[in-house]
Amino acid sequence: MSGPALDELKQQIPLLNYLQAHDWQPTRQLSRGRLMGLCPLHCDHKPSFLVDPSKSLFYCYGCGRGGDVIRFVQDYHHVEFLPAVALLYQWRGLAPLVREAAGFYRMQLHRHGEAVEYLQQRGVRSPELIEHMQIGYAPGGGLRSWLMQLGHPLQALRQAGLVTAVGYDAYRHRLVFPLEGNLYGRSISAAAPPHRFLPGSKGGLYAWEQVRRYPEVILVEGLFDYAALWQAGFYNVSCAMGNHLNAHQYGQLCDSRRTVYLAFDADPNGSGPQAAQWLARRLSERGVSVRRVALPEGHDPNSFFVQGGNARQFQLLMEAALP
Ligand SMILES: [Zn+2]
Repeated sequence: MSGPALDELKQQIPLLNYLQAHDWQPTRQLSRGRLMGLCPLHCDHKPSFLVDPSKSLFYCYGCGRGGDVIRFVQDYHHVEFLPAVALLYQWRGLAPLVREAAGFYRMQLHRHGEAVEYLQQRGVRSPELIEHMQIGYAPGGGLRSWLMQLGHPLQALRQAGLVTAVGYDAYRHRLVFPLEGNLYGRSISAAAPPHRFLPGSKGGLYAWEQVRRYPEVILVEGLFDYAALWQAGFYNVSCAMGNHLNAHQYGQLCDSRRTVYLAFDADPNGSGPQAAQWLARRLSERGVSVRRVALPEGHDPNSFFVQGGNARQFQLLMEAALP
């Protein structure tokens, strides 16, 4: 990797743009345009993260980390130098492409009865919810030609993981949910692996910008759990896409004082409750107040509502939740 190529990459991705795309907001402006805010690299309680947008450099007075956008990506995603550069290249090229792919999938949703039927089976009925989550459907063809018509080269589609090496649409018969910089695809057929993501990070907590202002936040494992709760009127819900949080998601949960209700799956094998217990311990060590919601055995929040549970009953479970 040559020096000029790196300089060009850094010029194309100003540090501040990258930070803001990852939900960072300055809390205070200093002299010479410099900004101060909470540090995304450690569990920061008073703003100690300094950004100089004119030089595209950062320094944290809390954890002592500092450097350019590549250094930030290394620390933020816990990767070495070269993977960090690759992530930045991917991030630069990916955003518009993923947005357009998501738009194509959304157009397909109501053209495919099997997709709508699956949503109904999972209790997703409200048009506002479908709109809010921007749910789409990947029928298994048509994306590649649509994107190429819009002028995206095939190579870019392959690189983003939207198209396979041999040139087919990668997502087939999957409901598609846009995430921050990624697309989650849920197979509607039992024959395929249920969950799929594009290469790269699954991003931060789902819909975090809308949720972070609530003093109480409900955290669930899956997007269909999220959907069921949102539809039942719990708008303070977020989703980790699994029961294992990445460093970014973990940092988000402890970025201010709040109570977190963990409503993980009550798997008969105990994996959901175990993950919740482990996470609860880690969060309370950082001063976050945590309650573990105990769902009836074998249920996740989605099945709880689909099989007749209502908002009042869920509220009671929250009130009974233990640390
Ligand atoms: Zn820091």
